[in-house]
Amino acid sequence: MNSYDRAALLLSAAHERHFPPDEGAEVAFAGRSNAGKSSAINALTGRRALARTSKLPGRTRLLNFFELTPGRRIVDLPGFGFAAASTAERASWESMTTALSQRAALRGLFLLIDSRRGVLPRDEELLVWAGASECPVHVLLSKSDKLKRAELAQALKAADLTLAGRATVQAFSAVDGTGLEQARKQLQHWLKK
Ligand code: GDP
Repeated sequence: MNSYDRAALLLSAAHERHFPPDEGAEVAFAGRSNAGKSSAINALTGRRALARTSKLPGRTRLLNFFELTPGRRIVDLPGFGFAAASTAERASWESMTTALSQRAALRGLFLLIDSRRGVLPRDEELLVWAGASECPVHVLLSKSDKLKRAELAQALKAADLTLAGRATVQAFSAVDGTGLEQARKQLQHWLKK
């Protein structure tokens, strides 16, 4: 079932003053570039090209707010901690993510981690950020279709160990639909509050 067929880009923010009013509920999505974040957002909302906006040239440093239903939003964080970013870009990113973490509307964070790579230092940055703001984190171990069953079980176990209670974790594939229902339930649960 797709209950988000009216999902649309609400706004792209280059600064926290452009954020929408801090009302309703929102869930953030983060992940290293290429982790499968856009594919996950598209699969979860049932809108195939929704998150493409975040990849348009010039938009990759913006925080994109998508409205799923009135007062219910997804926030697509640009590739965090991006290595090539200038000091100014990094400061702007930190300022926006700090402001985001302080919003009453923020209910949770989906962190996309490639199941073949596991939890990396950049992911740790995000976990620290979420931990400091008491924002619950749910990790989607993405591209699970690329792993054999035993490898996936191993990847889940390793991630669970590293996350050490800081996040819940599940396998996810935007290609074969593994974990899609579970992830959708998590999204709905967070947005319900
Ligand atoms: P983003 O940069 O994190 O937004 O990542 P994308 O969603 O654009 O995905 C990066 C690449 O991984 C693309 O080539 C996708 O087609 C591929 N990809 C994304 N999700 C999956 C998945 O679940 N399985 C497989 N096999 N490939 C995926």
